[in-house]
Amino acid sequence: MSERLASQFDRETRLRLRRVGLGVLSYLMFLVPMSIAVHAGSSTLGWWGVAGFTAAALLVNLVAMIAIATGWSKRFADPSLLVPQLVAAMLLALGMIHYFEGEARSVLLLLFVAIFFFGLFGLDTRQYLRLTTGTAVGYIALTTWELVGADASREAWLKEAIRFSALVVITIWMSFIGGYFASIRRRLAAQRDALERANSKLRELSIRDELTGLYNRRHLTERLEQESERSRRYGQGFSVAIIDIDHFKVINDTHGHAVGDEVLVQFASILRLQARFIDHVGQAPERTLGRFGGEEFMIILPGTNLAGARVCLERMRASVAQAPFETSAGPVTVTFSAGLAEQRQDEAAEALLQRADEALYRAKEGGRDRLELAGMTQ
Ligand code: GH3
Ligand code: MG
Ligand code: MG
Repeated sequence: MSERLASQFDRETRLRLRRVGLGVLSYLMFLVPMSIAVHAGSSTLGWWGVAGFTAAALLVNLVAMIAIATGWSKRFADPSLLVPQLVAAMLLALGMIHYFEGEARSVLLLLFVAIFFFGLFGLDTRQYLRLTTGTAVGYIALTTWELVGADASREAWLKEAIRFSALVVITIWMSFIGGYFASIRRRLAAQRDALERANSKLRELSIRDELTGLYNRRHLTERLEQESERSRRYGQGFSVAIIDIDHFKVINDTHGHAVGDEVLVQFASILRLQARFIDHVGQAPERTLGRFGGEEFMIILPGTNLAGARVCLERMRASVAQAPFETSAGPVTVTFSAGLAEQRQDEAAEALLQRADEALYRAKEGGRDRLELAGMTQ
């Protein structure tokens, strides 16, 4: 059951449904004293009455469960339907108390304590006090109706007054204590959320390059190791390319470092756009593009052989060469060279990088603005 719950509903909904489950258990627990009282003759309820109240309680919970499970309750400010459930419980408790007299009635006032405890799941003090008022008014109405109808003695009125004042004192006390605990719970939840948000932001920052927003060297190295491991285990190869901007030093020296940065940012966004392209029919393998350092970039292409990597890199090269970059110092022509290597069987990530780097060196030697592929054989 709980596994089915886990697969079908989101975390919040699961939590809400569990609370309703807890509510059902609480109702059923009260069947014990109720049944003993009926058995002992301290109640005018009778067994059919017990069955009736049980059915009503189950119905209330069934309705709440359906409203939560179908997502219908999400349209309300409180999708857990805590307040309506507590009001229903309070009305049922008042109705039931009518059938109990004397000591049994005093004991059953504990019902209200249980209901108010349930409010810890989220009532604030103001809501608690409203529930207290409702309970007090309901109790006065019930007992006045009973006592006037029975033309009760002064003693009977006084006994009810004791019960009533105890009930009010306890529920007011619960309102403040319960509201206080609920506020602590809310604060903790808010702090936990803030911490989670900060954590995921930090995680994101720790793998990103500040200037270009691409992945940084640390993440690239990590992904390379993962890919290497995966390929060793499942035999699905991958390729890697090291991309290096040609004569970048000249751009820096001519236009200044700031313009160099502008070029890096534009360069990165072109690569990013092209890396997303799907060259093959079917599912696009998830590629990792990052800034390896300085004006050097890297792309990891899972499930891609050398020929596939070349198509991808050639498209990047054409896209970069298509037009000069628009910078604050005017148009700047940018080209790059790249070394491509496909992982050999059981090749370590380091050796693979080494071959890609050698290929890049050959591309530079060969006149730049070109790709070089590392050979698959020795
Ligand atoms: P080659 O064609 O052989 O690659 O020549 P190159 O000038 O691109 O290569 P070299 O490695 O000699 O120069 C790279 C330059 O990149 C040197 C460095 O000052 C510059 N650089 C590194 N990081 C940054 C950066 O973040 N911003 C800027 N503007 N320049 C950077
Ligand atoms: Mg360079
Ligand atoms: Mg370089």
